[in-house]
Amino acid sequence: MAISSPSEAPQESTDTQDAAPLAFVDLAAQQARIREQIDAAIARVLAHGAYIMGPEVGELEARLADFCGAKHVITCGSGTDALLMILMAQGIGPGDAVICPAFTFTATPEVIALLGATPVFVDVEDDTFNLAPSSLGAAITTAKQAGLTPKTILAVDLFGQPADYAAIEDVAEENGLWVLADAAQSFGANAQGRNVGTFGLATATSFFPAKPLGCYGDGGAIFTDDEDLAECLRSIRVHGQGTDKYDNVRIGINGRMDTIQAAILIEKLNIFEDEIAARNSVAERYSAELEASIVVPNITDGARSTWAQYTLKLPAEHRADVQRKLKAAGIPTAIYYPKPLHQQTAYREFPIAGNGTPVSDRLATQVLSLPMHPYLSDDDQDRVISALKQVLADTN
Ligand SMILES: *Cc1c(COP(=O)(O)O)cnc(C)c1O
Repeated sequence: MAISSPSEAPQESTDTQDAAPLAFVDLAAQQARIREQIDAAIARVLAHGAYIMGPEVGELEARLADFCGAKHVITCGSGTDALLMILMAQGIGPGDAVICPAFTFTATPEVIALLGATPVFVDVEDDTFNLAPSSLGAAITTAKQAGLTPKTILAVDLFGQPADYAAIEDVAEENGLWVLADAAQSFGANAQGRNVGTFGLATATSFFPAKPLGCYGDGGAIFTDDEDLAECLRSIRVHGQGTDKYDNVRIGINGRMDTIQAAILIEKLNIFEDEIAARNSVAERYSAELEASIVVPNITDGARSTWAQYTLKLPAEHRADVQRKLKAAGIPTAIYYPKPLHQQTAYREFPIAGNGTPVSDRLATQVLSLPMHPYLSDDDQDRVISALKQVLADTN
């Protein structure tokens, strides 16, 4: 995801521009709010000097478990490592198929391929952008026809809204598969009466700076209620160590989160609920003002998104024009994602579920994300809304 702090925001000036460009994600506003607490937290780490697996790491894990209700939390170096470590712990490797959506960030299929297993791409739902449970049957058939053993459904909570885990878990159970939740964009969300962190066998999240809960570098976490899996993950996180530090019992990685990042996240977690509420206010305002002129995001009844992205759908033939005109008006936008995974060079050879990915292919040509963060003032929201309304009126 692109981060634009004000200093990195688009700089080009144009004749139609009447004010400095907005930030797409404003990390500086959040930093200003909690700067004193962050400085104190970092100073405490510098004072005790336990830079690796210091006390803040365990403290953060307990706080995250409390926050979402998962029994076990294992922090790690990134969201990508979180996904990788779970697949490693479950022994995923050559000959195994892991079913994942075609419309997601590269890290989702990357870890599957890295372990020598095969990602099998399935389509997503047009209204939620999330894995279509009705396509899973075709994916399982495709995997078997390719001589692979289907093992895992890796669902993604795209843009902050949880996937339809009730339906996904049903298919998994019927077919002897297990479910991994890629919640890199959705920690703090909930759906179907459950919090993100409690879906599937295990959940991976990311604390990349621009995610809804981000640190000041790379970081991630794994959530699971399975005690044996949690123990295995703690071992994998430190090179596969056993009880004796120098008798490594399995192949692992260096997957630890830095103590300084844990200390920063503890301070950010203190204001996270408030920030999720602010993101939801922005999203509600955008949708109320824009739904008459454009297709706004759809949140399933009873679900709460963390709004990692606020993503519109517009006619493919208008998107480039709308994006260019908004940019000229000082409104940065982003396209997540311009290409479905199976069209990307590294992933072209992997199987696609028999029924194809027409929705993913179309969404890649239609989506456009607006500035979204908890510190978007009413005036800034107005600016986005009126610029977009104007551009749409000119374009249609
Ligand atoms: C950001 C992201 C990841 C990877 O997280 P990192 O912390 O950057 O490694 C994985 N999956 C999705 C869907 C993401 O958005």
